[in-house]
Amino acid sequence: MSTESPYWFDGAACKGLLAGTVHEQICWEECPVREQCLAYAMGVADWIGTAYMPHLVWGGYSGYAREMAMKEVDYNVTKAVNLLEGK
Ligand code: SF4
Repeated sequence: MSTESPYWFDGAACKGLLAGTVHEQICWEECPVREQCLAYAMGVADWIGTAYMPHLVWGGYSGYAREMAMKEVDYNVTKAVNLLEGK
């Protein structure tokens, strides 16, 4: 994460870990802010301008999984999060 971390990051299980070393298991088993992290990734952090460019694990999902979900619902963030979360 950048130095401008969102408010919920204080509670993150991956705080202090290098981004590339975070695995989905940490998110699902140890992180109390997983849902906030996923919403932030898909709504904010995964975007570079108007391009959706997910990478690394956020919110318990790989960049590939987030990309597939977004494609499935034509890049509607709410629908993509719900699709991943089975809602
Ligand atoms: S859900 Fe995973 S990537 Fe997100 S803050 Fe928690 S441990 Fe870190």
